[in-house]
Amino acid sequence: MKAVDHEMLVTHLDRLKLTAIRDQLDTLLDEAARSKMTLREALAFLVAREIARRDERRISMASKIAQFPFVRDLDGFDFEAQPSLDAGQIRELATCRWIAHGDMVLLLGPPGTGKTHLAVALGREAIRQSYSVQFVTAATLVAMLAKAHQDGQLDKQLTLLARPKLLIVDEIGYLPFEANAAHLFFQLVSRRYERGSLLITSNRSVGEWGSVFGDAVVATAILDRLLHHSSVITIRGDSYRLREKRRSGLLQKTGAALEPRPTAAQ
Ligand code: ADP
Ligand code: MG
Repeated sequence: MKAVDHEMLVTHLDRLKLTAIRDQLDTLLDEAARSKMTLREALAFLVAREIARRDERRISMASKIAQFPFVRDLDGFDFEAQPSLDAGQIRELATCRWIAHGDMVLLLGPPGTGKTHLAVALGREAIRQSYSVQFVTAATLVAMLAKAHQDGQLDKQLTLLARPKLLIVDEIGYLPFEANAAHLFFQLVSRRYERGSLLITSNRSVGEWGSVFGDAVVATAILDRLLHHSSVITIRGDSYRLREKRRSGLLQKTGAALEPRPTAAQ
């Protein structure tokens, strides 16, 4: 291609905002030529590159907006370490059909058993499938709602929190709610009910939610809405963090046994 044509092509790619093709134009065209692609194949190849770049950008932007506490995926989850979990059920959730239906998920289990890991992994999968996601801890959420209430902005805040297709509320039960916080949380659940999905993690069984919310009536009303269209997943296992610690402890012991005996003892 003549230099002038190349410039024009780059300008046109710019105007069409085909930046991935523009940035790698020579490499991509060389690759298409080397693989002896037909024109149709080459066009499909270039377009696929552009789409891949856009997906990457969209996912990274949406993940920032979601405010996940860390990056975790289902691929990195060791199901064998957590036999009480049904891997098939988690994979089914990863299809995001429940989000399309506006259903709820409760992930219950003791600390360190991978609840936040799974919540983030499912949230990231939802983003991949173009759903909007927001992650928030229960403590932050309650503080946000209380502040909005105080400032006369509760309705506005509830509208904002009703917007993402999936809202993940992590760590309900680590701190008991004050009575007012329980009412505020109830309003959030009501606002989202049958509109958008909630994924809630808790280290307390639903039977204990009365004491978590400090009000059995409000807890029942919340659970009534949450459990209506929902999957409740209960992890009954050991903390993965402690398990890793125990393992490294074991390894150290084995390592010590393999060490040569101190010469002084001989
Ligand atoms: P929880 O939210 O239940 O307290 P986390 O999800 O924060 O637990 O898990 C604690 C740490 O252990 C995280 O770094 C997480 O990625 C890891 N983890 C927990 N369970 C597993 C697992 N089954 N496979 C891989 N990593 C795990
Ligand atoms: Mg957690």
